[in-house]
Amino acid sequence: TPAPGHTLASDLNTPQRMAALYLDGPCLVLAGAGSGKTRVITQKIAYLLRECGYMGRHVVALTFTNKAAREMSERVKTLVDSRLTKGLTISTFHSLGVRFLREEARHARLKPEFSILDSTDAMGIIQELLATTDKARLRSVQQTISLWKNALMDPDAAEKAAATPNEAEAARIYRSYDATLAAYQSVDFDDLIRLPTVLMQGNEAVRERWQARVQYLLVDEYQDTNECQYRLVQLLTGRRAMFTAVGDDDQAIYAWRGATVENLAKLTTDYPQLKLIKLEQNYRSVQRILSAANQVIGHNPNLFDKKLWSDLGVGEPIQVTAMDTDVIEAESVALRISAERFERRAEWRDFAILYRSNQQARVVEQALRNLRIPYTLSGGQSFFDKAEIRDVLAYLRLIANDDDDPAFIRAVTTPRRGIGQATLQALGEFASQKQLSLFAAVFEVAEAERLAARQLEPLQTFAAFIQQIQQRAGRKGSDRVSQGAEPAGPLLDELLGVIQYERHLYDTLDERAAQTRWQNVQELVGWLKRKAEEDDLDLFELVQHVALVTMLERGDEDDPDTVKLSTLHASKGLEYPHVYLVGVEEGLLPHMGRDEEDGDPAKAAESLATRIQEERRLMYVGITRAQRTLHLTWCKKRRRAREDVVCEPSRFIDEMGLSSVKLREDPELQALSPKQRLGMLKDLLNKKG
Ligand code: ATP
Ligand code: MG
Repeated sequence: TPAPGHTLASDLNTPQRMAALYLDGPCLVLAGAGSGKTRVITQKIAYLLRECGYMGRHVVALTFTNKAAREMSERVKTLVDSRLTKGLTISTFHSLGVRFLREEARHARLKPEFSILDSTDAMGIIQELLATTDKARLRSVQQTISLWKNALMDPDAAEKAAATPNEAEAARIYRSYDATLAAYQSVDFDDLIRLPTVLMQGNEAVRERWQARVQYLLVDEYQDTNECQYRLVQLLTGRRAMFTAVGDDDQAIYAWRGATVENLAKLTTDYPQLKLIKLEQNYRSVQRILSAANQVIGHNPNLFDKKLWSDLGVGEPIQVTAMDTDVIEAESVALRISAERFERRAEWRDFAILYRSNQQARVVEQALRNLRIPYTLSGGQSFFDKAEIRDVLAYLRLIANDDDDPAFIRAVTTPRRGIGQATLQALGEFASQKQLSLFAAVFEVAEAERLAARQLEPLQTFAAFIQQIQQRAGRKGSDRVSQGAEPAGPLLDELLGVIQYERHLYDTLDERAAQTRWQNVQELVGWLKRKAEEDDLDLFELVQHVALVTMLERGDEDDPDTVKLSTLHASKGLEYPHVYLVGVEEGLLPHMGRDEEDGDPAKAAESLATRIQEERRLMYVGITRAQRTLHLTWCKKRRRAREDVVCEPSRFIDEMGLSSVKLREDPELQALSPKQRLGMLKDLLNKKG
């Protein structure tokens, strides 16, 4: 419930308030990290609902991660009475896309229960079309198609634009890939934004319907919008252009996904009446952290000059520590966190460990587990990439959308039901001749006498079982009837029981592995049930929701008292009292990827320079997550791809103006054996007890 007597004035400084109250046209808030951009958005939502008479359903706020969306919703709930937030949309671009496509499915030639493929599935399709196992080539084709989609180029346009034989091939694959997705009644991640945009562009009725609905739009992290998202915002707001965008060009970290900072500049030309507001006071970090951040980012060219200041005091010195290896780095960070939690009387949730690349998480997790430090991992897809999770989700996808052939194949073969490769191949050939999904083909192949009864029987049993669950989940034919639909939770339990998934695990794996996997499945099921209940989702909605979480991040739980582990990318917009940034090394941060395919040295140099700039912005994002203390660590030796690589400290350490600080070694700790280190921890814990 909102605090009585709460006013905007007491919560915002002058320029922030100006931005929140401005309703005469489009408004852009451009400001550095921690200056209250997100706060302006939440306060403005409150203002629109409470004081301007906007109905909840006419206000839409868009963010980049589920977590950010959730935090924003919670914040709004503390400001506005729940009667006024009814129908309010605070979501990611992608969730809005799902909702849009579900409602407008007919116009997009989709059924409302369409599947959302994750990038592993998408890669599988591309692999089949390309008929290669060359990973680098596959990745490059997938990336190219994604960039085309984000630039709103269809296969025709891509074919025309293709300049090299490789690109021409990618364009051809793009066409077949899209056709395959259509056949599977599936969309990929990029389509969730592209298809609504294309649809609104081409269909006046749809456009008007959405423009009437979205009377005020707010967009956070605007610097990371791509061409397609830019158009979507434009189309949703129409000529009225009632929107507020907030962003920071120095935090643009998604160029590799087609985001373009020029969108910030483009706003000023597309909307000459645009109100531009800058914020300069930082409310998050102590001065030392802020000035280190300012110094690093000072090495980049920028669109707009910003001078950030804070009155939160100077703060403690930033610590930079050199470590011998990544294992020691992880252990030492874990040890320090437990010591600091004690010394500072802090909670686990006050600490975050940030890193550049997902692979770094493994050693850190191990170290935290050794010391029994509770943690939450976000930003990784690891959980949803696990075989057992994909197995269960394949069933759910198939139940929601039986045109989803990849889900069919996975489900029908796990657990094995005596359905062999030959049977599937015969079924596949028949299905493609008749242009049917594999699922539908099961019912027709009998007449065609393609398969022996012995082969057919297990297929038919399987299909009948899926159909039965579909009906009980609330689907009759293609019309969904919500009455009489059974709740998703119990259905899920029953499903797992019938397919005997637990037994399958114990039959095919050793006991420990089976146990772990079954625990993961139960974790998934528990989470799905909670979700279904909390948000009142039926099985079909639930499946689409899961897909989104899969793509972005997990961590849908409330904030438990745990240390947060996150990639730099996923930490955007968040803040923590104490931040450990690990692996601050040349090659890792800045990250040096695979060598450019391009042979032109001048071009390669240019692309290297722009890449370093993006890495520098990522560094800036990392530093500015910290409120009170910041620790950087780098390793002299790191295990990468099964090799020990010798590392140098990152140039960003110099650029932060920390070269004068003597790099601290940690001789005591490094001289210890793992056993001694554990002993040290025990002492520490005893001290506490
Ligand atoms: P980022 O660029 O990292 O997304 P931001 O500009 O969105 O940062 P916020 O997250 O909105 O910044 O604000 C940073 C912190 O400062 C938050 O804890 C917020 O509550 C606090 N803050 C912002 N404005 C004010 C204010 N006027 N008074 C007090 N605290 C504020
Ligand atoms: Mg923010």
